Amino acid sequence: MTVEKIGQESSDTQRCEKCGGRTALVTGMFIYEPDAEPYKSGVEEEAKVKSGECWVGGYICDNCGNVQGLWSE
Ligand SMILES: [Zn+2]
Repeated sequence: MTVEKIGQESSDTQRCEKCGGRTALVTGMFIYEPDAEPYKSGVEEEAKVKSGECWVGGYICDNCGNVQGLWSE
């Protein structure tokens, strides 16, 4: 007879890449618009991409506030 351990597996969020601290999963709206120098620093050029927004998730460190592991849907 086997006893199944459900929910025993730890599923902690990833560790901070900078300080090793615990990170919290965060989600939010990323609103963006092209920079005046979109392709080369110091050269003003009209970007082909337009402004827009998308939903992103990521991890933020409890200790140092480092943002990592961003993804967009
Ligand atoms: Zn950190």
